[in-house]
Order: sequence, then C-alpha cells, then structure tokens
Amino acid sequence: MDRQRIIKEMAKLVGVEYVISDPTELKVYEADGLTIYKATPELVVLPLTTEEVAAVVRCCARERIPFVPRGAGTGLSGGALALEGGVVIGLNRMQRVLEVDYANQRAVIEPGLINLWLTNQVSPRGYYYAPDPASQSACSLGGNVAENSGGPHCLKYGVTTNHVLGLEVVLASGEVVHLGGYAVDPPGYDLTGAFVGSEGTFGIVTAITVRLLKRPEAVKAMLLVFENIPDASAAVSGIIAAGIVPAAIEMMDRLSIEAVEKGTHAGYPTDAGAILLVELDGPIAEVEALLAPIESVGRAHQMREIRVARDEAERLRLWKGRKAAFAAMGQISPEYYVQDGVIPRTQLLKILTEIEALSQAHGLRVANVFHAGDGNLHPLILYDSRIEGQVRQAEEMGAEIMKACIAVGGSITGEHGVGLEKRDFMPLMYGPADLAAMERLKAVWNPDGLLNPGKIFPTAKTCVEVGSAAAKGIDPRYGIQGF
Ligand SMILES: Cc1cc2nc3c(=O)[nH]c(=O)nc-3n(C[C@H](O)[C@H](O)[C@H](O)COP(=O)(O)OP(=O)(O)OC[C@H]3O[C@@H](n4cnc5c(N)ncnc54)[C@H](O)[C@@H]3O)c2cc1C
Repeated sequence: MDRQRIIKEMAKLVGVEYVISDPTELKVYEADGLTIYKATPELVVLPLTTEEVAAVVRCCARERIPFVPRGAGTGLSGGALALEGGVVIGLNRMQRVLEVDYANQRAVIEPGLINLWLTNQVSPRGYYYAPDPASQSACSLGGNVAENSGGPHCLKYGVTTNHVLGLEVVLASGEVVHLGGYAVDPPGYDLTGAFVGSEGTFGIVTAITVRLLKRPEAVKAMLLVFENIPDASAAVSGIIAAGIVPAAIEMMDRLSIEAVEKGTHAGYPTDAGAILLVELDGPIAEVEALLAPIESVGRAHQMREIRVARDEAERLRLWKGRKAAFAAMGQISPEYYVQDGVIPRTQLLKILTEIEALSQAHGLRVANVFHAGDGNLHPLILYDSRIEGQVRQAEEMGAEIMKACIAVGGSITGEHGVGLEKRDFMPLMYGPADLAAMERLKAVWNPDGLLNPGKIFPTAKTCVEVGSAAAKGIDPRYGIQGF
C-alpha cells in the first residue's frame, strides 16, 4: 500500500485532522479493554457521516486494505484490534440522537453515542434504553450492537438484540443498506437479527433504531448478605424457582467486595463471603409484594442480613459499587483478565467451586463479580505481567475456565463476544459443518475478508495451541505491528 497516497485520500474524505497516522498517537488504538492483546493499525480514520464512512470503506475495498470498525474501545475480547494492520474506522464522532419518537417509544441514533447518554437524553420524559452494560457510561451503542451486549437488567428485559429494530449499515463494498425498520417483524429475512452480534465482521453500523421503555413506577434495590458462595448461589436459583424474575441479580464474592470497598465505598460488608445485589421494578404493588418472598428465599439459604435501599441515593450507591467493580480491581492487582463464560444457573456452585480449585492450582487470585441471574460469569483472574510467566498462566487458567463452562452445558461467551480472544474455543462448541455454515454467512457480507479479519473463527495457525497469545501470533507484552 502506498501509505502517503492513502493518507492524502483519507484526509480529503474526512478532513486532515481526522486522520491519525503518527505512530505514538496510533498506540491509543492498539488494544481494547482486554489489554493482554495488542495490534497497532497503520491508520485511524474518524468519519462524521454515513457518506464519509462509505467513502472510506470504498477506498479500503479498492486498495484491498483491511479495515476495522471501532466504537469506544471498551470491548473485552480484542474485537476492535487491527490484527492485519490496515485502517481502524473510529465511529466516535458520530454521536447524534437523530430522532426520538416518544409516542411510539423509538429512537434513531448514531453508533458512536455512549449507551448512558441515550437514557440521559430521554429520562426527563420518563423513558430509558434498557440494555445496560456495566460499561454503559463509556461504551458506544454501535459497539453494543456489534457485541449484542448484555447487562445487569438484561435478566428481565433481554439483551441488545431485543431492543434493536433497524440498522443502517455500510457494507464491505461501501454500499449503504437499511435492515429491519421502525415497525416490529418487517417482511423478508431478519437481517437485523443476523447482524446484531456479528462483531464488526458484517458491516459498519451508521444508524440504529432502538426501542425505548417507560420508566417503571417503582424500583427497589436490595443487598442480600451471605457467609459463603454456596448459600448465595442457592439463593439465586431459589429466587427464580419461586417464580420471581427480578430486574437484576448480581453476585460478588469477598475479593470483589474488598476491591470495591477500597475503590468506591459502596457500603458493602467486607466480612461477607458473598453478596447479591437484587433489584425489583414494576408497579408499586408488585414490587412491594415481592420483597417478603425474596427475603424468605434468602433466609432459607442462611442469608445473614438484607438491606433494602431506603431511597434513590442509596440505590445508586449500591449500583455504583457494582458498576465500578472491574475498575476497582486496580486496588488489589496491577492487572486482571476477565472471562465471560455462561452456565445453566443451577450449575453456579459447581463452576464457582471449580474456579476456586483452578485459582489454587495456578496460584492466581480470582475475583468473581457477575450477572448471576443469567448464569453469566465474570471471573477476573488477577495477575502481574511484570512477573515472568504470569500472563501465560492467566491465559491457561482462562482456557480451563472456558472448558469447564462448556463441560456443564454452558458457553464461552455471554456478552463480550468471541473476537480474537475466544476464536480458538469455537471448535469446542461447534462442529466443522456448524462453523462452515457460519463462515459462509460471513462470506456473503464480507466476501474479500477485509472487514475485521482474524476474528471469531480459528485460523489453521491458531488451532495449534488453544487460548495462547503465542498461538495467536501476538506477543502479549509488545503486540504485533501494523503492516
Ligand atoms: C469495565 C467494563 C465493564 C463491562 N461490562 C459489560 C457488561 O456488563 N455487558 C457487556 O455486554 N459488555 C460489557 N463490557 C464490554 C464492552 O463494554 C461491550 O462489549 C461494548 O458493547 C463494547 O462497545 P465499544 O463501543 O467499546 O466497542 P469496541 O470495543 O470499540 O468494539 C467492539 C466490537 O464492535 C465492533 N464495532 C464497534 N462499533 C461498530 C460499528 N459502528 N459497526 C460495526 N461494528 C462495530 C468492533 O469492530 C469490535 O468488534 C464491559 C467492558 C468494561 C471495560
């Protein structure tokens, strides 16, 4: 590729100040939230409109340059890394709310809009956008679409795909298409459904039509405190078995509580073995009626204390602790490696016991903070890359956790996507024919493979050594260079 010529052309398309080619500035784009893997792009381009995105893509397609869409870079599977170098197309400047239709409970927004900003904009009128990743104050809605993101309240309300009705997409050719629409169940194939969760390999989202929900009449958050994980795990299943579907059930173990209390002082009891953060919402009468049954399920499982938030300030403090939990790990460890396995809820205790055994065997501490109601685990493996061999050890342990999840009927990802990190595990979940069917679908959208190459599917090289950075051709400390 004639780099200078491409830089000039991109500058003409989006403006010279929105083309990043300086090697130091490009380092900002070398990783996402999973900093164990790094790959530096050759160029970053920051378009403002759909037309600019399409023009940039047409240039990449013509020159056969790989290109990777990127939102806020909070992804946790290496999805936004430019593995084969090329151009990162950053969507951050596309942040407008294009339309809000309160009567029909719809909004049309641009992909770079931060998740929480949408709720902030519509909340004065009593509405909100339901999928709430713990990263919602930083992640973009385009990234949410690409990853089919979940969040604490997705237990009751469903994940991103349940809230996206239509998409404007720039295809790998540069053509602009519209999928789905404003109304439910549009005719033809459900291409919106296929696109959501395609991890930046099917096209670049440039506008999203989402559902808005009306704020519930009442919301009550409560903290259920347990001496140990087995009792807390049993209580999670007990609540659901009692026919109650809270808006959220989140679990944290002792190490997570310690980190959170050091970082944000949410008021969690540091001597507890585990806590459940349970939230009920709905009509006042329903919320009030469900408090007692939840308490009695807790008591049946040796809950030692229940604290119901008395007001909105207290409720927000409880949530602040949970939402800041990943960041709080910095209080107790220089680095962490987060896993995203899913298991049937009834297997919670079994898998948490296995994770504890793996932690002992590898000599690495693990903090658990996760969406317990969905059985969506987030074991945070604490490590220090300055200690020889610890990165490798953390990776190996992560791989064993993934295999343990599969062994109990679970999956390798609940919400963070496959990306680069988990592509080598795909053959553990799918047979060759299953994977081939998926790859054929990808080839329809992305025929030349230029769009976000190296993600989701294992390559011949990566099959050699499951789950290792070395097998991915990446030095976890230094990263690979762009082309
Ligand atoms: C502290 C923390 C907590 C988190 N909690 C949660 C959680 O509770 N639930 C959850 O699901 N995730 C969570 N995440 C992961 C992450 O925030 C989500 O995956 C989020 O959706 C990523 O959005 P992003 O804008 O940062 O995307 P990026 O990281 O920039 O990109 C992610 C993927 O989306 C693709 N992409 C981005 N924009 C577009 C676009 N416009 N068109 C097409 N493809 C695009 C990229 O190519 C890449 O493959 C958490 C992350 C952190 C750091």
